[in-house]
Amino acid sequence: TKTIEIKDLDFYYGDFQALENVTFDIPENKVTALIGPSGCGKSTFLRTINRMNDLIDGTRVDGDVIVEGDDIYKDEIDVVELRKEVGMVFQEPNPFPKSIYDNIAYGPRAHGITDTEKLDEIVENSLKHAALWDEVDDRLDQSAIGISGGQQQRLCIARALAVDPDILLMDEPTSALDPVATAKIEDLIDDLKEEYTIVIVTHSMQQAARISDYTAFFLMGEVIEHGPTQKIFEKP
Ligand code: ADP
Ligand code: ADP
Repeated sequence: TKTIEIKDLDFYYGDFQALENVTFDIPENKVTALIGPSGCGKSTFLRTINRMNDLIDGTRVDGDVIVEGDDIYKDEIDVVELRKEVGMVFQEPNPFPKSIYDNIAYGPRAHGITDTEKLDEIVENSLKHAALWDEVDDRLDQSAIGISGGQQQRLCIARALAVDPDILLMDEPTSALDPVATAKIEDLIDDLKEEYTIVIVTHSMQQAARISDYTAFFLMGEVIEHGPTQKIFEKP
């Protein structure tokens, strides 16, 4: 199945064209890696999937980005709902300066959940899902800024999972982390793909080879190659 279909996608920052004719499908419940040199459009592409680029003035999109059946730039869609279905994690861990608990509860509360027991359950499940619960269950009321960088990044993953998305976008999620924290996130990504469709930007070919099932190779705003990761990497 394909959760995300991209057809003839062009993207412009003002007069500058950052993506040209991008066409490929992102498979469901797999890890898709976006690789290629710096500045070739990987982040831009990632941010078209949840319409994050809309926040930048003067951007323009041509073509189709179809997420779970909706053509998200052409159909009338609810962007808040889209961003609930499509979670995002960034390069720098960016927890809110709030307690661990409130970081996770933030999204569900914004979507109208107020029941304390329900929120407790979501917080626990999300932290367990992100392989963080055992490390923080005794200090949920403490500031998220006080935990390690790797823990903060897993917290950000838990925060994304708390609103029950189908798709998880990750923009170089391990670039700011040490090797041990990176390995934990990679293991976690491997576990999460059973339940989520994951799209990850990485500048590391090794990381793409280790954790992805499908790879799209970007070069100067175009996808020059895409396919199962094994095939992409076995080529001479
Ligand atoms: P990276 O390649 O590490 O993802 P960049 O340096 O390309 O990061 O971009 C960092 C931030 O600066 C992003 O938010 C990006 O949108 C913005 N940015 C990058 N290039 C430009 C540009 N030419 N004009 C304005 N903003 C830019
Ligand atoms: P990558 O993720 O592959 O490093 P980006 O998607 O960040 O590439 O950037 C692709 C191109 O778009 C680069 O030339 C970058 O400078 C430009 N760009 C990125 N963000 C902006 C922005 N906000 N405004 C203008 N140009 C941008």
